[in-house]
Amino acid sequence: RFDVLIVGAGHGGAQAAIALRMLKFGGSIAIVGDEPEYPYERPPLSKEYLAGEKPFERLAIRPQHFWEEREVSMLLGRRATAVDAAAHVVTLEDGSKIQYGSLVWATGGKPRQLTCSGSELSRIHSVRSRADVDGMIAELDSVRRVAVIGGGYIGLEAAAVLTKLGKQVVLLETLDRVLARVAGEPVSRFYEAEHRAHGVDVRTGIAVECITGEGGAATGVRLGDGSEVPADMFIVGIGIVPAVEPLLEAGAVGGNGIEVDAYCRTSLPDVFAIGDCASHENRFADGLRLRLESVQNANDQATVAARAIAGEAQPYEAMPWFWSNQYDLKLQTVGLSTNHDRVIVRGDPATRSFSAVYLKQGRVIALDCINAVKDYVQGRKLVLEGLSPDASRIANADIPLKELA
Ligand code: FAD
Repeated sequence: RFDVLIVGAGHGGAQAAIALRMLKFGGSIAIVGDEPEYPYERPPLSKEYLAGEKPFERLAIRPQHFWEEREVSMLLGRRATAVDAAAHVVTLEDGSKIQYGSLVWATGGKPRQLTCSGSELSRIHSVRSRADVDGMIAELDSVRRVAVIGGGYIGLEAAAVLTKLGKQVVLLETLDRVLARVAGEPVSRFYEAEHRAHGVDVRTGIAVECITGEGGAATGVRLGDGSEVPADMFIVGIGIVPAVEPLLEAGAVGGNGIEVDAYCRTSLPDVFAIGDCASHENRFADGLRLRLESVQNANDQATVAARAIAGEAQPYEAMPWFWSNQYDLKLQTVGLSTNHDRVIVRGDPATRSFSAVYLKQGRVIALDCINAVKDYVQGRKLVLEGLSPDASRIANADIPLKELA
């Protein structure tokens, strides 16, 4: 029996244990994780780790001795398969049962798979875990052409790294622009142009018909217009499906993620859900229920759940932020641009340093800052306070954003 059992040894799970000990929680804590590794940072997987610039050891969220010193039991390489909420018991794949006082569900998500024919062939990779990326790296030497399916952050980051490694990359996106779900049109067009300038063949508005193959290995992507994109490696970055089956089966309310309240409590007694797998009402999206897939959200929700468990409850109100590195471009995002009704471009994209400022009914709700750290730092206040500065002043990059606050 553990006073707190955390399922998922990723960003959220690790931070929940860290926060509990920082709050001087003296009860027993265990983390069950289905990956063999101690908790590690996922963002570098599609960046420095894939590029070979950062060894895996430097991805550790904390050194191994940290967990031992804090008396956090690590049950790694083990998967939770069922929850009995009334009995407060989690069952693992090997049949063993663990009793808990409080349960923190922090399982993230599984990469969404292609469903067309050929999707089971070899040489098709997702980018979610160390094992995924090690699988790619093992094949890289014999790879000349890569097809990346999906123009979200992960697909674009992988395309940037692989291009730098000298591969010929084709990026395939079904919508009419890359980053369509997360950024405004000026940002999408900027990144498309950057990738093309670096030699990536960016194709938007395409349909993936099927994956063609030979001898069990994928050899090409057949598109809706009948054409075929030949490649030796295929990377699928089309989102995740939250890993919440056992909790849903246990009766938790949810669907696309487990529904939680402002304290990360699920509908089940003493069961919390945090991170990529938790759907919550976010005050920076006008209270809309959503799942956020970011390190910020995983860490901050972990702290919220830890506080509730430790008897020092405080609601989740953190401002969303995110980053993405492609080539020498550092994108930093603050706020949530979903549902914006206007985008103002601040600075000249041709200088490769500018910001997109998102408004809703005149209020600043988010910024995407590209190589524009000052805007990112100073723009936070505009979002936090939902200010409505004059649009012509927002657009004037000579006026520091702090003067608009
Ligand atoms: P995870 O970190 O995914 O941890 C969940 C863990 O639970 C995993 O180890 C999983 O295998 C395990 N698990 C699942 N089911 C079970 C089970 N039944 N039993 C036991 N264990 C289970 N965010 C940013 O903010 N900035 C970035 O630049 C950025 N880049 C990214 C790049 C990549 C390639 C990826 C994959 C993600 C990136 N993210 C980025 C997103 C960020 O990593 C996630 O939002 C974050 O990891 C979410 O934390 P989590 O704890 O919810 O899930």
